[in-house]
Amino acid sequence: MTLRTFSFACTDVGRKRDNNQDRYRLALDLNLFLVADGMGGHAGGEVASRLAVDVIERSLRDDGGGDGSPPSVAHRLAAAVRTASREIYERRQTDVAIAEMGTTATGVLVRDQRAFLAHVGDSRCYLLRDNRIHQLSEDHSLVFQQVKAGLITEEEARRSPFKNIITRALGADRDVEVDVATVELRSGDALLLCSDGLSGLVSDDEINASVNESFLHRVPERLVDLANERGGPDNITVVLVYFLDEREIPSG
Ligand code: CA
Repeated sequence: MTLRTFSFACTDVGRKRDNNQDRYRLALDLNLFLVADGMGGHAGGEVASRLAVDVIERSLRDDGGGDGSPPSVAHRLAAAVRTASREIYERRQTDVAIAEMGTTATGVLVRDQRAFLAHVGDSRCYLLRDNRIHQLSEDHSLVFQQVKAGLITEEEARRSPFKNIITRALGADRDVEVDVATVELRSGDALLLCSDGLSGLVSDDEINASVNESFLHRVPERLVDLANERGGPDNITVVLVYFLDEREIPSG
């Protein structure tokens, strides 16, 4: 089986903010897909999320490629995220206007029918398989820890005044702990990466329904529209990566 990869993305400032501090990157030749959600002042968030996607991509272009084995691919991706964190941390020291900046980063690198995930912060990566949705990434946020501990429900987490407090970010310190995971891909799988401007307003079930009901290339825009219809309080970013066995692709 040879899987072909199709990717679609949309980002939007939303209805309340005056600048978009989210960034996405589709580096098709690397099979690399990224979402970063910057924070920390008007200028800082934009700088941090741009640095994150730029440095992660650059690191993966410059690191020699490794030996291609699964542990090597996972290691390269996590190392690229840590390099980005270090560069953001160092930039913070140089300019008071961006001294508070940081960013989430959720990235997927696809190799040999496997998706390697690296993740820091409260952006998300979902796997959509067989009409069901699974959150692959764990939010590094205060409310997620409270939900996990059984202290509050997911619905309460959505309305919590503390929902924006994240417990891990690129640039917060010189080094950062990066979550990594691997998924063996099947034909028909999709991965959806998003910032909390989507997941804070649109439920997992609604995301799942949208992927199953819409033309795939329209899914990111449709989900962004849905978040905006609900007030769009934050920047919204959605990346959809779809995998299909070449033999199943209609010809002509
Ligand atoms: Ca956000």
